[in-house]
Amino acid sequence: MRSVPFFPPALFERDREAALAFLWEIGTGAAQEFTLGEAVCALEAGIHRETGAPHAIACASGSAALTLALDALGVGPGDEVIVPAFGCQPIAGAVAGLGAVPVFADIDQRTMVIDPAAAAAAVTAATAAIMPVHMFSVMADMPELTALAHRHGLKIVEDAAVAAGAALGGIAAGRWGDAGVLSFSPFKPLGTCGEGGMVLTADDEIARKCRLLRNHGGTAGAGAELTGYSSRMDELLARFLMRTRTSLADRLERKAEIAGAYSKALAPLEAAGLVSLPAAGPARPADPADGTWCHVYAVLTRRRDELSEHLAARGVGTHVYYPVPLPAQAAFARYAGGARFPRAETVGRTNLALPAHPGMSDQDVAYVTGAICEFFEIPLLTRERKDCPWTWTVSARSGGTTPT
Ligand SMILES: *Cc1c(COP(=O)(O)O)cnc(C)c1O
Repeated sequence: MRSVPFFPPALFERDREAALAFLWEIGTGAAQEFTLGEAVCALEAGIHRETGAPHAIACASGSAALTLALDALGVGPGDEVIVPAFGCQPIAGAVAGLGAVPVFADIDQRTMVIDPAAAAAAVTAATAAIMPVHMFSVMADMPELTALAHRHGLKIVEDAAVAAGAALGGIAAGRWGDAGVLSFSPFKPLGTCGEGGMVLTADDEIARKCRLLRNHGGTAGAGAELTGYSSRMDELLARFLMRTRTSLADRLERKAEIAGAYSKALAPLEAAGLVSLPAAGPARPADPADGTWCHVYAVLTRRRDELSEHLAARGVGTHVYYPVPLPAQAAFARYAGGARFPRAETVGRTNLALPAHPGMSDQDVAYVTGAICEFFEIPLLTRERKDCPWTWTVSARSGGTTPT
């Protein structure tokens, strides 16, 4: 049986020798700099050139970058920060960790990013900032959220952890906010062989503070100016990232191709009301490709758990992202006051991410869509494909299609 894992196990196979050489060079180098050395500077310079962000400050992780950015903006006790109800823990955790209050706003069910109308409704006199998160494959509606922030004098911390390489209106993800954040953890588009993150900003003072905060709040000469963190980026991880990031555009292109193939093959299922496919983009019909890329390809279906089991039995790995919305989690429930977020709940209950890593072949993709069509007993569009490695026949028992 074919095996199409969700997380490819040999992610760094090709980079093995290089990684060992980097470790050796850093460990035996004259500078003896294991963090914030030459490679980290080179990485910052590279991302600065690519995104156009005047300042790029590398740190220990994407979560740490959220904390540095919020802290540098002065967010603290008494402040509220509007965050989406659907997403990973650091989104609310970074806010709560600074003694501020995460205020949840529901998402748009199709794009899975924060609904600007819900964000607007969550603004109070205590709101200090909005934290939009680019989710899966669609950037948050930054023009709308920027206008909202301007109307109320709010800051924007833009969580672009999974959106490296994406852009909206010609502006790179991470550059829309007063501060933007990238993550370099292994399964992000721009991943390294461990943890890493970055703050992007055009503001000199925010940049200066982030540089201090990541390294205990001070400099060797002057001592601590701020209460900071141990949040330096590792040289080894920066060198590794310098190597892997050269292939980011190719990887994103291949993932976009895979997403396109999924959407084409699964369109009849959507037409039949059996699944909902990822949105091509937020409501910007003039240019639907703008602000989209492919990190995660997640479909919505009421039969999510059954479909996941069906695919697992055929060697296809899937993943459920964020089944419990943030306001329903024990750590954050006290901030939500029992409020419900129906769209975040629906997406948490029904989303299923399909494998979409760049190493997948066209046959792998056809195998996955074939297995999904089989589950829903929908005749295959892929039947005619030359690269489909098997022929499918209608099974007499189920009335559906099965591979032979
Ligand atoms: C992964 C992720 C983070 C946290 O980044 P880490 O590098 O894992 O700490 C924050 N926000 C989003 C949307 C993420 O996907």
